[in-house]
Amino acid sequence: MIGRLLFIAVVIVALYWLLRSFLKRPAANDESSPSQVKDMVRCAQCGVHLPKEESVTAGSRFFCCEDHRRAFENRSE
Ligand SMILES: [Zn+2]
Repeated sequence: MIGRLLFIAVVIVALYWLLRSFLKRPAANDESSPSQVKDMVRCAQCGVHLPKEESVTAGSRFFCCEDHRRAFENRSE
């Protein structure tokens, strides 16, 4: 009977210790969320999404390539 109580006590202590070490662990998951995604733009001609740095800018519009920038300007004229 005492042996069973001791076993339960050991299990509780072990669970408590495991939980504590788990909660103590630094939250490294925050770095996994990419911050580059926010600078995505949409090509006004074909609608493809691409990083802002790789896009062709014409005024307030963005394009995936120089061809689409020209095609869009020819279409609107
Ligand atoms: Zn395009």
